[in-house]
Amino acid sequence: MMDSRLAASLQGLGLNPDRLGSLVDGRLMPGAGETVTVFDPVTGKTLWDYADAGSDIAAQAVAAAHEAQKGWAQRSAAGRGRVMQAVARAILEAAEPLARLETLAAGKPIRDTRVEVAKVAEMFEYYAGWADKFHGEVIPVPSSHLNYTRREPMGVVLQITPWNAPIFTAGWQIAPAISMGNGVVLKPSELTPLTSIVLVMLAEKAGLPIGLVNVLAGYGHTTGQAAMASPAIRKVVFVGSVPTGRLVAEAAASRLLPCVLELGGKSANIVFADANLERAAIGAQAAIFSGAGQSCVAGSRLLVQRQVHDRFVELVASGAARIRLGDPASPDTEVGPVNNLRQFRHVQALISEGAAEGAEVIAAPGMSGEGYFVPPTLLRGVNNSMGIARKEVFGPVVATIPFDTEEEAIAIANDSDFGLAGAVWTQDVARAHRVAAAVKAGTFWVNAYKTINVASPFGGFNMSGYGRSSGVEALYEYTQVKSVWVETAAEPAVGFGYAAGIRD
Ligand code: NAD
Repeated sequence: MMDSRLAASLQGLGLNPDRLGSLVDGRLMPGAGETVTVFDPVTGKTLWDYADAGSDIAAQAVAAAHEAQKGWAQRSAAGRGRVMQAVARAILEAAEPLARLETLAAGKPIRDTRVEVAKVAEMFEYYAGWADKFHGEVIPVPSSHLNYTRREPMGVVLQITPWNAPIFTAGWQIAPAISMGNGVVLKPSELTPLTSIVLVMLAEKAGLPIGLVNVLAGYGHTTGQAAMASPAIRKVVFVGSVPTGRLVAEAAASRLLPCVLELGGKSANIVFADANLERAAIGAQAAIFSGAGQSCVAGSRLLVQRQVHDRFVELVASGAARIRLGDPASPDTEVGPVNNLRQFRHVQALISEGAAEGAEVIAAPGMSGEGYFVPPTLLRGVNNSMGIARKEVFGPVVATIPFDTEEEAIAIANDSDFGLAGAVWTQDVARAHRVAAAVKAGTFWVNAYKTINVASPFGGFNMSGYGRSSGVEALYEYTQVKSVWVETAAEPAVGFGYAAGIRD
């Protein structure tokens, strides 16, 4: 079954809601496995259901990508870039219906999904530009050889993504992969495959070779693992939680497959007494409450210098109380529901755990009804050893922790299993740089939070993962380097063992 608004939205984008399933070699293939039921986070009622793809469809997806990748890698790099530019234009033309579909299917506010769709177009433009500019080099070796490197595609890459920003994450990983000549099998979250499917269909209409990118609709432990077991997969890029990342990395290791892991976080947002507190309070709200806190970089630990702690917490709490919670389809809504019931319960459980540990819970006004709405919530009086300071909530819940000195703030920030992001708010420029250098995190902001751009590298320290996405760094992940040696001497000194010319 399918909700009528969702069916209409899909039809508007040229999709037959009756044949929904994985997108393999340009065709929609309904699965044959267990039923996956997706609930509307606004109402808690069934939104749609479908059958898990399973191993046969996963194998077909890998085979299609393997076949299409050969021709794509042989195209000129500039030609690949031109196709990607056309894809970017197609995304911009369909931006509004795509954003509306994402809002309906994932329960994300339309004000956020509009930005995310625009960013996907930007990703295709950005990596289109790189297609013919990221290449090997000539190495000046001390012998009569010409030695050069080639940056070659990995082949077929498996990308496994979560539900918090589905179309954004799809574009984020597909664009760099194909710009370097790879084929892709994308396994989005079983809860949010629709916009990834539509994105690839649009790309194919715009000229992307059919079958180069395939989307599997289904579970990770079945469909995702089946795809990973296929010998044609040469790399796995996983975006998701630490426990699942570990399972994926273990399965990849048994096949000696290289991985990129983009995992969770418990990022410290550090506010010094000399900061512009009004601005910092707005930044602190955006850091944790936007996207209902379902952001890997969420500033979920708010470290505040003791002399301004109470005043600052009051500023953030009063701002949180004014945040407009509601229907994600309304342009006025700033924060929608969390995506699913499991996540809703997880967030509630961690709030209760924090309260049981002694934190004071300050919750903004909530929403009545059946949906998965969690009001913006502060937990005050937290110390860094409490569960609420250590576990990823992935919801609109921030733990406030007082500190006295810069050294203490840095020590608390770094006392975490994670290392994804962080921020400092201060007007002391020297301190800002000291703290930026000292905090162990892959992304760090000074007097800002959550600004990101496709040109800037992104990834985690510690248990937040390894490898990098975005920027030129992503292109190292999606290529492998080959060193080629060519003898140029008229009378080469071919000898037994090492060639001559080690030192002149
Ligand atoms: P999750 O780990 O439960 O699932 C992520 C993906 O893994 C889904 O597609 C799922 O189907 C798949 N999966 C599940 N079990 C699998 C298995 N055994 N083998 C292969 N694949 C499997 O994560 P989630 O709940 O969907 O997303 C929330 C998490 O994602 C949070 O921890 C968040 O911090 C993280 N995240 C990280 C980033 C980043 O860039 N670092 C970005 C967004 C989200």
